[in-house]
Amino acid sequence: MGKRHIAILGSTGSIGRQALDVVRQHPDLFEVEMITANNSTSLLIEQAIEFNVNNVVICNEKHYGEVASALSPYPIKVFAGMKSVCDLVGSDNIDIVLTAMVGFSGLESTVAAIMAGKAVALANKETLVAAGKTVMDLAGKHNAPILPVDSEHSAIFQCLHCSPGEKIARIHLTASGGPFRTWTREQMASATRAEALKHPKWTMGSKITIDSATMMNKGLEIIEARWLFGVEQDRINVVVHPESIIHSMVEFDDGAIIAQMGHPDMREPIQYALGYPARLPLEHRKMDFAELGSISFHAPDTDRFPALLLAREALSRGGNMPCIMNAANEVAVAAFLQDRLSFYGITDLIEKCMSGVDFVAEPDLETIFLTNAEAAAKARELAGIE
Ligand code: MG
Repeated sequence: MGKRHIAILGSTGSIGRQALDVVRQHPDLFEVEMITANNSTSLLIEQAIEFNVNNVVICNEKHYGEVASALSPYPIKVFAGMKSVCDLVGSDNIDIVLTAMVGFSGLESTVAAIMAGKAVALANKETLVAAGKTVMDLAGKHNAPILPVDSEHSAIFQCLHCSPGEKIARIHLTASGGPFRTWTREQMASATRAEALKHPKWTMGSKITIDSATMMNKGLEIIEARWLFGVEQDRINVVVHPESIIHSMVEFDDGAIIAQMGHPDMREPIQYALGYPARLPLEHRKMDFAELGSISFHAPDTDRFPALLLAREALSRGGNMPCIMNAANEVAVAAFLQDRLSFYGITDLIEKCMSGVDFVAEPDLETIFLTNAEAAAKARELAGIE
């Protein structure tokens, strides 16, 4: 493959850092054109220098002076604000955009990349949760390929290569079950932030780690899969698989099930998206099936993990309901991380917002942005946050 010029939106987060590690292993294949971060100035500066990046954007404008002066001795252009991200992401010298920002804030720049016809390596699942139909319609219209980075969706994408164009009978989304898989409801009710942040299998940022503890992450992934692969939710099954060896599976009409496996390592799906369709070498732990012995599966417990039901309800109601749910979840997770909500306070708050914000059956992009603001404000009000 020829050298690919990439933009990494959210380069200082967990996915962004691992993507740069992939670039470090393959300097002959990738060139980093652009990186962005919200607030992590020192790491952003370090990355810009190491990868000799063309354009750097610090989204929080109050840090502009610090980043600009640190990079002034280098031939690196520094910009500030989300508008700069949206303007620069369509530059001619960018081939592929990795969207690794956290939450709804990634939507605007993802849409800008799609409208510029860029290939999008999508790690920002909230984009598809809040505006799945709009984003996929735009991607089709602008011929912008969407390459999933979420490990489950990368797995499904890889499984589909076995039978291109064939109807999908069912998708089996695997879930690790998170840190509270074996806890009782009573124990979970008083779970602390530190306990919720201890994920057994994956090392990730704090938002997604809390989403894994509530299993809202799997709920968001049901919605993400619905839009990425055009499969209705009654054909998307969630199965808990604590060993996290099978990253997801596709079942076809003849009963054949294709699974994608490996040790949990986010660099694999990141690399697959950036190098697609090539498989690039990656230093990894070899799989020893004999040592592994067995892997296990069980149904998710929706009494202890009501977030799964909320996500299915949001998806079946459609319209702006997934956007309302997502906005409420973002506020609730932040409040939990600040010890302002209990663990089940997260899903209680989401449920209240889903019945307390105006429903719109066919929202356009503008309505999605308004809904997000309205639902976040409602959630803050209900949580007692100014
Ligand atoms: Mg995932």
